Amino acid sequence: KKAQEAERRALPAVTTDGKRTEIVANINQAHQAAFAIEQGAEGVGLMRTEFLFLETRKTPDEDEQYEAYAAMLKAMDGRQVIVRALDIGGDKQVPHLALPQEANPFLGVRGARLLLRRPELLLPQLRALYRAASSAAGKLAIMFPMITSAAEIIRLRSICEDIRKEVNAPEVPLGIMIEVPAAALQAHVLAQHVDFFSVGTNDLTQYTLAMDRQNPDLAPEADSLHPAVLRLIGFTVDGAKRYGRMVGVCGGLAGDPFGASLLAGLGVDELSMTPLEIPAVKDRLRRASLAELKGLAARALACESAADVRALEGVAP
Ligand code: PEP
Ligand code: MG
Repeated sequence: KKAQEAERRALPAVTTDGKRTEIVANINQAHQAAFAIEQGAEGVGLMRTEFLFLETRKTPDEDEQYEAYAAMLKAMDGRQVIVRALDIGGDKQVPHLALPQEANPFLGVRGARLLLRRPELLLPQLRALYRAASSAAGKLAIMFPMITSAAEIIRLRSICEDIRKEVNAPEVPLGIMIEVPAAALQAHVLAQHVDFFSVGTNDLTQYTLAMDRQNPDLAPEADSLHPAVLRLIGFTVDGAKRYGRMVGVCGGLAGDPFGASLLAGLGVDELSMTPLEIPAVKDRLRRASLAELKGLAARALACESAADVRALEGVAP
């Protein structure tokens, strides 16, 4: 019985008409890898690196970071690992970095904006990542958070390329998070400069609806199923597909079976979630055909509200 269950979890998420969605895990530390694989993870879609900075009293140096990335690649045993460059600022404050106070931190110097202003943070992290890519027998990809413009990507790519040459590492796919409406609307432009996209529905929802993701008074309305958010994800997929780029989703919506069905129907290639959410999402995606999921996504896009989208769950495949 247990062996049967393990076998079922390992099955890929293939619709009844043969369309496969990659199902990967959001994990931050190598010791979580075995459990993620047991739940059916086919890789890591989001390794948040903030924990390296948040759970310590000092900034981790290049060697400490290298150990963490190499350990994750080794633990995932050849499966792809997407590591996200440091995403602080906004809600994530780090005392030992002495970041300036801002009136509106979520609209301030966070994510890639901070990395581009603080080379002493960006460069050791990239060096550690490229060293891990060249030493460990794993499949690394690097992704940058809070991207708003092509200019940011162009600068980051050129810094990556310099470091790659410096440490004599192989090329690594470079992607960006789509979590700002401007990035979703300009996806067809940004796609020309990156290898893949990953939609962060937590921030994309916050910025689209102008609702603080941490404000409990707004929680019921700050719903990622809002048609405006889904429409932006649709734009993102269209922009990516025009240039043959992979699109994943690593925000909370990906781990909800109904949300996952909608995302697969919108054309998303990869869904990344908490390991415990994987079995139910895989089971749900295997029940339907891609045609049904596309129909569901089309109906959701035509809805007037998140509540109307949620009501489709009753008729969803
Ligand atoms: C997101 O914004 O959806 C995301 C995955 O990133 P984080 O939750 O770390 O901001
Ligand atoms: Mg985010």
